[in-house]
Amino acid sequence: MKTRDQHWFDLFSTRPTRRDFARISLGLGGVLALGGLPGCRADRGIRIFDDPFGLGVASGDPWPDGVVLWTRLVGAATAPGGSADGAPVSVRWEVARDDGFADVVQTGSTLAMPELGYSVHAEVEGLEPARDYWYRFDVGGQGSPVGRTRTAPALGARPETVRFAFASCQDYEAGLYTALRHLADEQVDLIIHLGDYIYEKTFASERVREHEAEEVFSLDDYRARYTTYRADPNLQAAHASAPWVVTPDDHEVDNNFAGAVAEDGQTREQLLLRRAAAFQAYYEFMPLRRAQLPSGPDMQLFRRLRLGSLMELHVLDTRQYRSDQPCGDGSQPPCEQARSPEQTMLGVEQEQWLQGGLAASGARWNVIANQVLVSQIDRMRDGEAVHSMDQWGGYRVERQRLLDFLGEVRPANPVVITGDIHSNWAVDLKRNFDDPASEVVGAEFVGTSLSSGGDGGDGTEREAEFRADNPHLHFFNGQRGYVRCSVTADRLTADFRVVPFVTRPDAPIGTRATFVVEDGRPGAQAG
Ligand code: FE
Ligand code: CA
Repeated sequence: MKTRDQHWFDLFSTRPTRRDFARISLGLGGVLALGGLPGCRADRGIRIFDDPFGLGVASGDPWPDGVVLWTRLVGAATAPGGSADGAPVSVRWEVARDDGFADVVQTGSTLAMPELGYSVHAEVEGLEPARDYWYRFDVGGQGSPVGRTRTAPALGARPETVRFAFASCQDYEAGLYTALRHLADEQVDLIIHLGDYIYEKTFASERVREHEAEEVFSLDDYRARYTTYRADPNLQAAHASAPWVVTPDDHEVDNNFAGAVAEDGQTREQLLLRRAAAFQAYYEFMPLRRAQLPSGPDMQLFRRLRLGSLMELHVLDTRQYRSDQPCGDGSQPPCEQARSPEQTMLGVEQEQWLQGGLAASGARWNVIANQVLVSQIDRMRDGEAVHSMDQWGGYRVERQRLLDFLGEVRPANPVVITGDIHSNWAVDLKRNFDDPASEVVGAEFVGTSLSSGGDGGDGTEREAEFRADNPHLHFFNGQRGYVRCSVTADRLTADFRVVPFVTRPDAPIGTRATFVVEDGRPGAQAG
């Protein structure tokens, strides 16, 4: 059994007022008032689509010569001839150099299989590097929306700039996806999603809209949950705006699960069955390549993407191979089990893969896409520092190996990007967090949630408190949003983009703070 740790999330939330909620009614009327879900019915429970492309389109994992194009058929298209006989459906796709499809460079077709929920993962090859493309699908004469994507730069090329954004934590019930609408407008080269793409059960104390059901366990349950999320027009717009690189955290399966250990009463066998269902649904709904097709409860999620010689992206999976949270989970003062060499976050194979890849990377920047906080942040409770056992602080020997590796092997410009805690942080990675004189070996930028936790707040008082106890902390903020990054040979610039509210529509976007990392100078500086 684990204790549920909400401390990190509750620190900063400012609860919406009654007046805010009076403007948002729950249920169908509310959904329509909030911009509507065209072509589908939004009663709690069943969702019926007229449009086979009612879940939108997406692309992902860009390589220099191609990307994977994604859609997932819904409605009558999945029952050819009107019978649900489970026959495969042929889906055509085309890729063009312009959004009007005057200059089509490739076409093809692929079978959407009932076994994979009529999802389409078309791996397009033979495209030119570092170029924008537009794509669309067609099934039985019905066309899909158009998506924009972009290939990675050629392996040896040094692009002047790479622009990417990262985001995480989109509890559907807790808030609207206004931030994703703004993210779509950014038209970045790459969007990295660091997990909590869905939530498996209700966490929001105040709900602006509702999941289709209670907690999800089976494949059908997870499919219905993703359908609820994927029907959101702002999420669809963000997917259609740029290729995504995704990696899950805990809520795609079960809150705070660790390897084969469930949050609550499930046995290992039950959790592995649940994980298999969850991973299959994740694959069906994400623009992932064939290499990520799950096999039972196993899914190859740690992987690398190369953006020319400018940047290498090391994508981690900190859930599938980790040992259980030590010391009963939750936030704890220093406890022996957290210092045990038996505790692992990545597992042996992934740790070696990460170190090997960092050591061999010739890229100017090494960005590590990671789920949970690496840095040690002391939070004082009854005069004692406590740390979340779900984060790298519960796996201290392995964290120290990573910090020592960064300090000794010195891979070029390591920058960790992190999600999970529904707040923004800019932190220096130190060889020894308890020693202010200790060497800085990298930077960690934590993106806030897109919607989880509701409106949140700027947390200025909290920031002062945290910074007093943690001199390596530069910035904290508890609003919602995403982080937009621009990478050049000289610096990586991170803009913390935030919206002032998510419990009602039309929030404007703004930049709350900007931090930079300069080439050859580890750590974050105010930009
Ligand atoms: Fe989350
Ligand atoms: Ca999480």
